[in-house]
Parts: sequence; structure tokens; C-alpha cells
Amino acid sequence: MKRSYLDYAATTPVAPEVLEAMLPYFHDFPGNPSAIYAEGQEARQAVEKARGSLARLINARPDEILFLSGGTEADNMALAGILNANGCRGRHVITTAIEHHAVLETCHFLEKNGASVTVLPVDTNGMLDPGEVEKAVRPDTAVVSVILANNEIGTIQNLAEISKITREKGVYLHSDAVQAAGRIPVDVEALGVDLLSVSAHKLYGPKGIGALYIRKGTRISPILWGGGQERGKRSGTENVPGIVGFGKAVELAQLTMASESGRLSALRDRLIAGVLSTIPETRLNGHPTQRLPNNANFSFDYVEGESVCLNLDLAGISASPGSACSSTSTAPSHVLLALGLPQHQAFGSLRLSLGRWTTGDDIDRVLEVLPGVVARLRAMSPLWARK
Ligand SMILES: *Cc1c(COP(=O)(O)O)cnc(C)c1O
Repeated sequence: MKRSYLDYAATTPVAPEVLEAMLPYFHDFPGNPSAIYAEGQEARQAVEKARGSLARLINARPDEILFLSGGTEADNMALAGILNANGCRGRHVITTAIEHHAVLETCHFLEKNGASVTVLPVDTNGMLDPGEVEKAVRPDTAVVSVILANNEIGTIQNLAEISKITREKGVYLHSDAVQAAGRIPVDVEALGVDLLSVSAHKLYGPKGIGALYIRKGTRISPILWGGGQERGKRSGTENVPGIVGFGKAVELAQLTMASESGRLSALRDRLIAGVLSTIPETRLNGHPTQRLPNNANFSFDYVEGESVCLNLDLAGISASPGSACSSTSTAPSHVLLALGLPQHQAFGSLRLSLGRWTTGDDIDRVLEVLPGVVARLRAMSPLWARK
């Protein structure tokens, strides 16, 4: 039986077109882009072509794009790099309670090393009030970091409003756009961001390659030192096949984004309506309209998200409990807690995320299987019986 993969927010399969574009760069074009002979120059050209494609996707200039190992490194570099470059002065960082761990843990590290961090709350839909940013900015604030589209609940922030404030106050604005890029239009000028993180494996490219957009003129230090690749900002021999694949994935995203987002949001809306109408005491997490076209996140009172996922897995459906990477942790998601959900809802969450190979049949299968799974688990729950 063909499985229904509904965890595109965790990672996406590499598109066949992307794989095909990458393959020659493992053997036929072996050059190091820093080498001056023909093979090196071929590799350099391929890297610069990909840089141009990514620049076009986000309306940046090619020399504002830095290739690095993925979304995690981009988030680390954005925050640690800004603080490193600005010395002891300006060591206050503002972020939100619903950031990816790559941002939150970097903030933790910076705090341990003497920076101060303000974590802003969000409302029950996961939206940050720009007024909160205005109130939090201090004379020593160096950077504000706000996730563009949340990886768990899909809520899309109003960054254009937030950047009006950061610009007026003269502080840098970083955004983790790992979930947004390739799924919704991302334009660094319209958003007004100074730094923006992207990762290839969330948009049908390979794992282990990503990019950080750095607005020209931004004062930022490296976090890796060595041979001075990427204009001295990110040392290490370029991952040429990865960069080529990233570039191809970005070109595909630009071509298909409009039609895919229409197709996926229709499937998502059918999924949401079906789940809410057939499973009682269920909540849709995230903003009802300002959300990614491919994200649905539910809380089922008094059941554990992990148990729902294991049961779906047996029925051939791959989904994620509310918080990603939670096979190693049983803590409820920090994102759902930030929405103000009580524990019995924060634990009982399920994220279904759609993508290129999702069809109406996958949605039908979920709607067929999920109500029974939730009902069975509730029947076994002492909390449900006693509520
Ligand atoms: C996946 C993800 C990351 C991490 O990216 P990697 O390339 O896996 O390191 C960061 N932020 C968000 C929002 C993500 O979804």
C-alpha cells in the first residue's frame, strides 16, 4: 500500500528535477570553486547561477546571499554573527516565544555569554503584535528575530509592520523564513528584513544546504573561520552539488508556487473542515487565515499526539505530533504552550503538512482513519472518562 506522507514541514523529498541537476556535480564536474583551472571555474559558475536563482526568489542581490549548511546554521549565524560584530555594546536581542529551536537555543547561548534576551508573547493564533516589538526595543538592542511562517502551526507574521519599527529604531531585523520560502512569496524589500534564513530541504532540495540573506551594509561577523570562502563570511569548501540542487529547487518553486499554493490550500481546507466536523472537542491551532497553504495543526482534547501519530503510522500515514523532532522528547510543544493552550490540549496535538505529492486520496485516507483513532484513544483515557 502506498503510504501517505504528510510531514512536508519536517522535510521534503528531493524533486527528481533537482536530483538530476545535482548528479553531474558529484563526479563529472569535480572542481573546487576556488580553483583557477577549468573544473574549478565550472563549479564556480554553477554556484553563482544558483546564487542568482535564490536572489531572484527573494528579491535580493546575488552578493547578499551566503550559502551555508542549512536553516540551523543560518539562524545561528544571523544572531551570533550580529552580536559578534557589534562588540559589547548593543547586546540585547528580541525574539518571540514561537521561534524554531535554532533561534531560541542560539539566544540561550548568547544569554549565557552576557547578552540579554527578551522573548515576546504571541496571541492565541500565534500572531505577534508589532506594538510588542516597539515596547521592547532598547538603546542597546542589536537585533530582532521573528519567524516568518511558523513550522508547527503555520501562522504567518506581519513582518512588514514589524520592520517599520525596527527601521525607525535602527535595529536589525532577522527572520527565519525556512518554512515560508518556496511556499509563499518572500520579498526581502517588501518585508523590510536585514537577514533571512532559508533551507533547501524544506523546498524539495537536498538536506545540508541553506542560505542566509544579509542586506548590503549589515555589520556581521563569521561564526566559522578558515579559507575565507563566501567573501570571508563562511569558510569551508562550497557544497557544490547541494548548492546546484538548491538553485534548481528554487527555480522550480518560483515556477510552481502560485498553482501549488492554490491546490494545497484547497486540500488543506477540505482536511480542516473534515476533521473539525467529524471529531468533537478538536481545535485548529494557528491563525485561521494567515497561515501556510500546506499546514494543518489540531489539538484533540485528552489524547496524546504521539499516540495519534503511532496509530496513523500503522494505517500508512506519516504525520507529526505537534512539536517536531519530538521522538526524543515528551515535553509539550513550546509553541502550543505560547498560544496559551492548557496542557491537555498542548499534548494532544497533530501536525499534518502537505506538499507536491499530496493528493485528494491522502486527505480521504486521513478523514477515514483519524476519527476512529481519536475515539479509540479517548475511550482508553482516564482523563477523558473523568472530564
Ligand atoms: C527545518 C527548520 C529549521 C532548520 O533547518 P535545517 O536546514 O534543518 O537546519 C529552522 N527553522 C525552521 C522554521 C524550520 O522549519
